Amino acid sequence: GVPQVAIVGRPNVGKSSLLNWLAGRRVAVVDNKPGITRDRILYLMQHDDRFFELIDTGGMGHMDADQLTDDIEAQITLAIDSADLIIFVVDTRTGLVTMDQEVAKRLRYLKTPVLCIANKTDDETFDNTADEFGKLGHGAPIKVSTLQNRGKAVLLNRIAEAL
Ligand code: GDP
Ligand code: MG
Repeated sequence: GVPQVAIVGRPNVGKSSLLNWLAGRRVAVVDNKPGITRDRILYLMQHDDRFFELIDTGGMGHMDADQLTDDIEAQITLAIDSADLIIFVVDTRTGLVTMDQEVAKRLRYLKTPVLCIANKTDDETFDNTADEFGKLGHGAPIKVSTLQNRGKAVLLNRIAEAL
């Protein structure tokens, strides 16, 4: 079948924004309230001659201050189990937080390749902060901004290479 690319990360880092940005239209709900993406959203992408399916999930971990957490955990587990590639999104505006380390740990011993994406790297002044996510152990982060349309071509090429 079509390769599955799961987008994971703690709430509010911009996972749904990333999906919409790559899709070029509003597929997933974006909200500044953490944990708003309740269901999984799948979107069939084409880049050059390649097809892959992007999967947006809810946040990972326990930052959601409501009963959705277990549901979201289950979605993440499912995404991890069935994904050919995991896009691990972090937030350059907040910088590295404990929750990112917890997510990173959960992704560490998987056979599935992981790309670390430093979203909200809105301009060059944030590049150094973004580079600190290299500490998470998933390679040098790919710097993007869905808001400022930064780094899309690089990201799509990296996804295609990894599949
Ligand atoms: P999710 O919970 O990980 O799916 O995050 P969302 O996609 O819902 O986005 C959370 C918040 O981050 C929203 O207020 C977005 O507008 C904002 N956001 C997303 N991408 C960027 C970005 O590149 N730069 C900035 N500054 N904000 C962003
Ligand atoms: Mg979301």
